[in-house]
Amino acid sequence: MTRLAGVKADKPSSHKKLEAVASKVREMLHVGPTKAIDPLKLFEDLDKIIIKHGGMRIPLNYRVSNLEDSEGYTRYDKEQKCIEVIASVYTYDRLESRHPRAGFFVGHELGHCLLHTGQLVRLAQMPTNQLAAMHRGATVHQVYEDTEWQANGFAGALFMPAKGLAQLQQTYGLLTIDMIQETFKVSYEAAGIRRDVFSQRREILLV
Ligand SMILES: [Zn+2]
Repeated sequence: MTRLAGVKADKPSSHKKLEAVASKVREMLHVGPTKAIDPLKLFEDLDKIIIKHGGMRIPLNYRVSNLEDSEGYTRYDKEQKCIEVIASVYTYDRLESRHPRAGFFVGHELGHCLLHTGQLVRLAQMPTNQLAAMHRGATVHQVYEDTEWQANGFAGALFMPAKGLAQLQQTYGLLTIDMIQETFKVSYEAAGIRRDVFSQRREILLV
């Protein structure tokens, strides 16, 4: 059994839904399906991505901070009424050198912003002791309800869209992990996971 890393999301998701949300983001950023997303640009363009919650637009900002023990995180700022993705200095340096892990961090956090907006807002209202309890992850839930699973799936779909994978496959007559890695500038691991997701659900994802 896979150990679930996140908490229970408000809504379950599916690969199909994650694909649709990721595809909208690519449209907002004007990046075609076979183009690699530049993760540093994605980070600095986060404020161009529209997030709606309860009929209101919530501004999305980014910030670099001196974090000792984390690559970064996402929070809702209840004073400024905006969502912030905070990257550590180390993560930001790795974004500049286009390290795949740092890129995946931005995609993953953006997934939380888009998919878990309500939960981020609620977390910001909670006292810190309750917050700690929530992070102990005492909930029992299915994989497609897991916030971390959803954010990872979103990042995969954002960086390696199904439409782009289908085009690669059509052009070359096959789809290898190396090809995916080379085209979208992602890690070998991320490319492998995504290739499996795509091969198993091709018809659903390409609708
Ligand atoms: Zn996460």
